[in-house]
Amino acid sequence: MAEDTSTGKGKVAPLRKTRPCPECGRPSTRESYPFCSERCRSLDLSRWLKGSYAIPVAEDESRADDENRD
Ligand SMILES: [Zn+2]
Repeated sequence: MAEDTSTGKGKVAPLRKTRPCPECGRPSTRESYPFCSERCRSLDLSRWLKGSYAIPVAEDESRADDENRD
């Protein structure tokens, strides 16, 4: 009967609250959410990776093995 489906219902994306970029505090963009740019995204990622490298798991393991031989 009534063709009401073309009225644009659900076509408009809901306005999302933009949060500030965790790297520099500028408003985030949709492409790099939750960061403001690809640069900030990779910056955060590299920092995260560096942080995980700081945990000396492998070193601890080899040391324990050394003590076992004694
Ligand atoms: Zn940023």
